[in-house]
Amino acid sequence: MKLLLASSELHPYSKTGGLADMVGSLGKALAGEGHQVGIVTPWYRGTDRKYSDFRKLDWQLELPLGDTLESGEIWVREPQKNLTVYFVKHPGFYERAGIYNEAGQDYPDNAQRYLFLSKAVVNLARYLPWKPEIVHVHDWQVGLVPLMIKHQAWRDGWQNAPATVLTIHNLAYQGLFHAEAYKFSNLPNYYFHAEGVEQYGNMNSLKSAIEFSDMITTVSPRYAREIMTEEYGCGLDAILRRRQDRLKGILNGVDYDEWSTERNVCLAHSYSADRPDGKARLKAELQLEYGLPARPEVPVFGNITRLVDQKGVDIQLGALEEMLATDLQFVCLGSGAAEFEQAYRDLAARYPDKVGVRTGYDHCLAHRIEAGCDFYLMPSRFEPCGLNQMYSLRYGTVPIVRRTGGLDDSVIDIAEDQERATGIKFTEYSVRALAKAIRKALVLHEHQELYRRYRDNGMRADFSWEKTGDDYLEVYRRAIEYAAFM
Ligand code: ADP
Repeated sequence: MKLLLASSELHPYSKTGGLADMVGSLGKALAGEGHQVGIVTPWYRGTDRKYSDFRKLDWQLELPLGDTLESGEIWVREPQKNLTVYFVKHPGFYERAGIYNEAGQDYPDNAQRYLFLSKAVVNLARYLPWKPEIVHVHDWQVGLVPLMIKHQAWRDGWQNAPATVLTIHNLAYQGLFHAEAYKFSNLPNYYFHAEGVEQYGNMNSLKSAIEFSDMITTVSPRYAREIMTEEYGCGLDAILRRRQDRLKGILNGVDYDEWSTERNVCLAHSYSADRPDGKARLKAELQLEYGLPARPEVPVFGNITRLVDQKGVDIQLGALEEMLATDLQFVCLGSGAAEFEQAYRDLAARYPDKVGVRTGYDHCLAHRIEAGCDFYLMPSRFEPCGLNQMYSLRYGTVPIVRRTGGLDDSVIDIAEDQERATGIKFTEYSVRALAKAIRKALVLHEHQELYRRYRDNGMRADFSWEKTGDDYLEVYRRAIEYAAFM
């Protein structure tokens, strides 16, 4: 198949969260199976940090954005056979200190920045000589692409326009803008209504993609069911129920070349399910790195996260307060809301022998935490898929997760399967329930034989893209069928 993916962030060039990992590894896996894959993404500051083999394409990007004409360049890189990354270069829009925001403030021109990206995607989809059959957009930033493609097919003589697929990585981020911003799409006003782009007088970019894509996926089966309920639907549940025949939940895969416990540049020692010894050394080094006593017998709990409400920061802080009286250690790496960063630093100041905190973004430290801990905490309020719990499983770090979204789909509790258990689940979103789960973990850690079984089960679990890639191909085929009947 010929596939054009579009995403506002892409590992290894730019990343704030799981979106970048997922699009990077999906593209890689599909190209590896012999499909022709392009990925469109912005050229941010630092995009060329790691590589030098970028090439400027002979491509005139001159796109209307409201009343002005904006120009940009297309640069390409071909990281592997069948895979081309198309970077949209517009220094004024993208080469800034942050991706979406700075000092906690969203950039005021995010509508323009991402409508420009969306138009570049449509322009490439239409004029690339290899004619993509599918345009697969990810999240709100490129949410108007499916409508722009349909519009050009209906009104502008675009024959055999590609079918469109949307993947929702997180329904909580919708790209909601004042109605004024709609003019930057240069689309006619007749799409600005309740079954189109508009929601209660505003422009809703993700809603537009839900309305106009031929197929919709989200990143786990359970999250697909959850977002059709009022509780998790973020105001879009009714529309998702209306379009549920087009909605499918597919659990994200893991790029095991990147997230590997063997020959990993971020890890000083290798280990595996068959040779787990290196993990103990990595634990001791992690304890030292965080200035904690390097005691092998004490269980170390870890967490790497964007510090936002979704991730269960409040119940984590509460449960740790309760549990730090016992013999355990906690290390975290997080960046986000200043008050959360401060709350973790305060905790570390009060328990210097038990709590270690780093703020900021550090890719290799994330690997070292996954490898050096005994347990990984993920008490999310909601979690579309979640990748860290899957990385934990492969790294032999037993995850403790709330029973929601992809966390529920990827971790097995002993109550579900005694032999195949890989982690500990709790249901209620409360300090009490999380503290109880941590207590269970402490008991498990005392029963080393059982703990080793959990760890072994997790390390052998397989969330590779081979299976997942096939599920996407099935979605692409359905999208092409639906598009043919439009
Ligand atoms: P989300 O996409 O909601 O942030 P996921 O669990 O799906 O959550 O993915 C998070 C990804 O971002 C993981 O690869 C994780 O290791 C990484 N990550 C999050 N915060 C940091 C950080 N402060 N430093 C390094 N990596 C981080």
